[in-house]
Amino acid sequence: MCALREVSFTYSGSDTPAIDGVSLTIRRGSWFALLGNNGSGKSTLARIIKALLTPTQGSCSVCGCDTAEDEGALEASRRVAMVFQNPENQIVGATVEQDVAFGPENLGLPTAEIGERVAWALEETGLKGLETSPTYALSGGQKQRLAVAGALAIMPQCLILDEATTMLDPQGRAHLLEVIRSLHRRGMTVVHITHRLEEIAYCTEACVLDGGRIAWQGPTLDLLSKPELEWGLELPPVVRLWRELQRQGMLDASVHPASVEILEALCPSR
Ligand code: ADP
Ligand code: MG
Repeated sequence: MCALREVSFTYSGSDTPAIDGVSLTIRRGSWFALLGNNGSGKSTLARIIKALLTPTQGSCSVCGCDTAEDEGALEASRRVAMVFQNPENQIVGATVEQDVAFGPENLGLPTAEIGERVAWALEETGLKGLETSPTYALSGGQKQRLAVAGALAIMPQCLILDEATTMLDPQGRAHLLEVIRSLHRRGMTVVHITHRLEEIAYCTEACVLDGGRIAWQGPTLDLLSKPELEWGLELPPVVRLWRELQRQGMLDASVHPASVEILEALCPSR
């Protein structure tokens, strides 16, 4: 879906690169966790994948097209959609259906197709029935699902969630993750930027950024199995409890502290 080779990026006016020699591949259909401290370069990397920024060095290709070229940049802008942290900043329409129609209208699609896409996106995100509701009246969780619906209406192949759950209450977060889980099951590539390791239970691969460089990359289970976590990351409480019970001999030591069963139990959508 997306391949970065030795990508570096420095913002104009800055002497230190925000991204420094990053190579990674995000496979089509994967649910990829992008982790790291504030300022480690996660959002910059997301902007590079969506071709909002062009690498200063190295190359980024989306669906096989180099984003440094016009055709590749257009491809990336259509194939990759982003949902950001603050739901308030992502609403452009007065009503739910106007908001979701904004993207397909900009693509110049026929009215009938716009209507079909809006209906589909609202169904997918559990907002069906709220078509004519004013957007200001929605809850935070509903607003984030509206942002996802707006993203879906342009029919992307990859959805980047840039700390999209940070401002939500537990219920709103669980509902949003359930929507993402259902989209992923049906083939959506998801790049999940978060601080909360309990949200990455379904991510197969993870990458940790530190100071713009890749500090760690590999299967999510391996990351959660590490005896000590660095880079400002914290193990989910249930995994810590599990480990402590094992340490005290209260649980069979053969049970993996980050077994799939525990991770699934951790996932807020269950
Ligand atoms: P993260 O999303 O992991 O918090 P960012 O990608 O936002 O990290 O930031 C990476 C680095 O780039 C930080 O040092 C940040 O200060 C810097 N940075 C981010 N956006 C800009 C910008 N628009 N102009 C200049 N520097 C920026
Ligand atoms: Mg960020």
